Amino acid sequence: MSYLRKIHGSTPQSAPLPGQVRNSAGGYSYQVDDWARLGRFLVLGSEGGSYYAAERALTLENAHAVARCLADDGGRAVAEIVAVSVAGRAPKNDPALFALALAATAEAGETRRAALVALPQVARTGTHLLHFAGYVQALRGWGRGLRRAVGAWFLDQPAERLVLQAIKYRQRDGWALRDLLRLAHPQTADAQRNAVLGWIVRGWPGVGPEPHPDPVLRQLWAVEQLQRAETAAEAGRLIADYDLPREAVPTQHLTSLEVWAALLERMPMEAMVRNLATMTRVGLLAPLSPASATVAARLRDGAAIRRARLHPVKVLAATLTYAAGHGQRGKGTWTPVPAIIAALNDAFELAFGAVEPAGTRHLLALDVSGSMGAGMIAGVPGLTPQVGAAAMSLITARTEPSTHTMAFSHKLVPLAISPRQRLDDVVKLTSGLPFGGTDCALPMLWALEQKVAVDTFVVYTDSETWFGQVHPAEALRRYRQQMGIPAKLIVVGMVANSFSIADAKDGGMLDVVGFDTAAPQVMRDFSAAG
Ligand code: CA
Repeated sequence: MSYLRKIHGSTPQSAPLPGQVRNSAGGYSYQVDDWARLGRFLVLGSEGGSYYAAERALTLENAHAVARCLADDGGRAVAEIVAVSVAGRAPKNDPALFALALAATAEAGETRRAALVALPQVARTGTHLLHFAGYVQALRGWGRGLRRAVGAWFLDQPAERLVLQAIKYRQRDGWALRDLLRLAHPQTADAQRNAVLGWIVRGWPGVGPEPHPDPVLRQLWAVEQLQRAETAAEAGRLIADYDLPREAVPTQHLTSLEVWAALLERMPMEAMVRNLATMTRVGLLAPLSPASATVAARLRDGAAIRRARLHPVKVLAATLTYAAGHGQRGKGTWTPVPAIIAALNDAFELAFGAVEPAGTRHLLALDVSGSMGAGMIAGVPGLTPQVGAAAMSLITARTEPSTHTMAFSHKLVPLAISPRQRLDDVVKLTSGLPFGGTDCALPMLWALEQKVAVDTFVVYTDSETWFGQVHPAEALRRYRQQMGIPAKLIVVGMVANSFSIADAKDGGMLDVVGFDTAAPQVMRDFSAAG
C-alpha cells in the first residue's frame, strides 16, 4: 500500500470534509437528502435491517424520512411512490404500500386525498390491498375516506380481474378480503359484482355441478368444484378448462405432476419463477423434458419478462434457491436442471431491460467489507448487500465492452470474476470473501497508483467508510488532476441508509439505488454525458 504514504495534507476518513456527517462506522460520509432516502427505501426496503441497524430501527429511520418528504411536498412524495411501484422498479411493493399508508394518514388533507386516489395504482392486487390494510391498521385505524377508497377498490376494477384477485388472495397477514368488505361495505346494484362479493364473504357452499351460465362467474364455480376434486386428473382438467391459478388448488393435489403440468400452461411469469423447485420435485421439470424447454424459452423471452415486470431480484432469489437444490429450512430437496439455471442466468439480465453501452472505461469496485455481509436486500434470505453488489456489477460488466472488476475492504481483495461467468458462480465467489474494514477511496487510489485510465468508477457500497487516509471524493479529484481524465464516480447504494461517498455538489458524482431497474439506464446516461 505504498501509495497511501504518498498522500500528504489530506483529510483522513475519520475526520469530516465540509458538508459531511458521521456515519455508523465512525467515519464521515456525505448525507443523501430525504428524497434520495425515499428512493432507497422504496427499492431496497428495510427488512432484515443492516449491519448497523436492527430492522425496527432502520424502518423507523426510513419512516421518518418518508414523513419529512410528505410534509415537505405531499404531492411529489405520492407521485414518487406511484412511479416506483407502477414501473415495477422495486423487488417488493411493500415499502411503497407502507409509504402510501403513511401518506394516507398524513397531517395534510391534500396529501391524504392524493394517497387515496393513488391506492388502486399502488395496491394493484388483493395481496397488496391486504398489506396496505395491515399498515393502516398499525398507523391509525380507519377513517371514512379510507373506507370509501377500499370500497372503490372492489367496485371499480373489471369483474374478471376482481374474480382472479378473490381466488388468489383470500387472506394474508391476518387480514382477509372478507374483513375489508365488512369494513368498507361497498354498495352496488350490479348483480354480477354482488355475486363475486358474496363469494368473497361466504363462498358458494351449495353450488351445483352445472357450470355457471355467466362466463366471468364460472371461474368461481370451478374453484368450488376444484375443492371437491377427488383425483389429480379431475383437478388437472378443471385447472386447464377454467384457467385456475395455483392458489385455488387444494394441498393434496399440489404434489401431482399432472396438476402442475396443467398449471404451467398459463402460469404467470412470476409464479413460474417462484415454483421452479416444486415443478422439479414433482418431476415436471427434468433433463430434456418438454416442460423444461417451455420454461427455459419463457425465461429467455425478454418482452414477456418486461411485460410481467419481473424484477431481477426475484430472478436472483430464484437462482440462489433453485441452484442450491434444497429449501431454506432444509425441507425438501430437488436435483436442479442445469438448463433451467442457465435460462435463469439470462432472465436476470433481461429483467433489467436492454441498455446501450456508454462505451467508456469502467472500473467496477465491490465493497466486500464486513458490513456488506449482513442484512438482506428486499427481505430475500441470503441476498446480502455484498451478494447483491456482485450481481448488480455483472449487469454493467456485460453491457459495457470495457470493464474491470475489483473488490476492496480496508485493502484490495483479489477477486477474479468475468462478465461471462454465471450469476450463481459469481455469487458463490463473492460470498466467500474475507471480511474487513472499509476504505471506499481504494478504487481511485489504486487506479492512480497503477496509472490505469478510467472514465467511470462505479462503487457498490453502503458508504460506511472509515479506514482510509483520504476521502473517496478527494481521491477522485486527485485522480482527475494527476491523470488528466475528467473521471466520474457512480455510487450504487446497497443499503437504505442515509450515507453516500458521492459529493452531491460535484457534477461528476452520482448516487443511484442498487437494484432499481431504472439504475442501469441512468448510469449509462451519466457515463456517456460529455
Ligand atoms: Ca463496511
